[in-house]
Amino acid sequence: MEKEAFLRERFRQYYAAHPVQEPPAIEKREFGVGVFGQKISQRHLFFPTFKELNGFLQAQTPFFISYSAAYYQSPSARPMASKHWEGADLIFEFDADDLKTECKQKHDSWHCPECKKSGKGNPSACSNCGSGVKVEEWVCPDCLNAVKKQVFELVDLLETDLGFSKAISINFSGSKGFHVHVRSAKAQALSPHARIEVLDFLTGQGLDLKRLGFVEKNKSLYGPSFVHAKGWQKRILHGLLDLIEQNDASALAVAGNVSIRTTKKALEKKESIVKSIQKGVFPSWVCSKSRAFWSSTLDFVSDELKLDIDRQTSLDKFKIVRVPETLHGKTGLNAANVSFTALSDFDGLSDTVVFGKKPVKIELLAPTPRFFLKGQWWGPFKAETLELPEFAAIFLLCRNAAQLSIPKNA
Ligand SMILES: [Zn+2]
Ligand SMILES: [Zn+2]
Repeated sequence: MEKEAFLRERFRQYYAAHPVQEPPAIEKREFGVGVFGQKISQRHLFFPTFKELNGFLQAQTPFFISYSAAYYQSPSARPMASKHWEGADLIFEFDADDLKTECKQKHDSWHCPECKKSGKGNPSACSNCGSGVKVEEWVCPDCLNAVKKQVFELVDLLETDLGFSKAISINFSGSKGFHVHVRSAKAQALSPHARIEVLDFLTGQGLDLKRLGFVEKNKSLYGPSFVHAKGWQKRILHGLLDLIEQNDASALAVAGNVSIRTTKKALEKKESIVKSIQKGVFPSWVCSKSRAFWSSTLDFVSDELKLDIDRQTSLDKFKIVRVPETLHGKTGLNAANVSFTALSDFDGLSDTVVFGKKPVKIELLAPTPRFFLKGQWWGPFKAETLELPEFAAIFLLCRNAAQLSIPKNA
């Protein structure tokens, strides 16, 4: 309890000094809050003004606060139908959890409750007995950069191909990823059916290469020319040319389902291949089964480009999502807004640290991997008592990886 009281007081002081001015159209939103260890424990809250929201944050200081993507006539009414849904922002969530990055082998660990085997990484099942495993997940700059790449691709698709160039707002989730909110009138007015179509487009559901203009003629494969390519055509061509420019014979062999000897030989003429593809012709002289090779490579590239968006989350009409510029109760980090132009330099594990450096003594409940916070690496630590700057201590306390160390004679 001491831990929760300590954290709540530090959160309260933060909110007292940093009033929250999110989300827009506050009077039409439903809010939900969470307690320590539980992101949502209460819903159907309503704050007609920011003054009331901030008063609540200081009086009650929840560990998590979320708001509805939807706009309602009566946000606090129950059941849901009597709220009168008026429309909703488009919201996309990207989490490092969903991406298979190599760094997970370093910072994540798992154990099997069935056979007690444990190991490094983030497998979906136990390597020994096949049961589901419990994973201890951490994030690092590498996985957050992989998430950012998805955000860049999403925003490009939203703006260039779907015409949602207005009112796109991006924020750090406060923990493992980013949220993208599209709050334009056009987005709000989308019907449930249109929302499914938007999602299908973004995730490349039912992507048909033939319909995109990649067609066979006289045993050769042709595609759209680079200068005229749009949308998915452009993304696929970019992805393909990137793969070729990498000059990695084994990566290309995997994509094209041929031997490395074949791709090594083909890459000797890399420049001519690139020139030809830019003109819309997939050279038939790269190998004996060039048509199959190019088809396989195009399939591989387009699969890689499909955005990892959780369908369930994006299509949930009543979804609530973290209020930007509020604290995340599992990290103590700020779910900070970040402009599109600042995103590439934005460091989710440094730029969102809000607490100070005053030393705090904590007892770690279990060993930790090496983790990154506020511009530097910390640990790895044993299950030990140690003094850390407040922001790092709060991070571990919020994760429930530690408790406050109380002097015995106090
Ligand atoms: Zn097992
Ligand atoms: Zn990582």
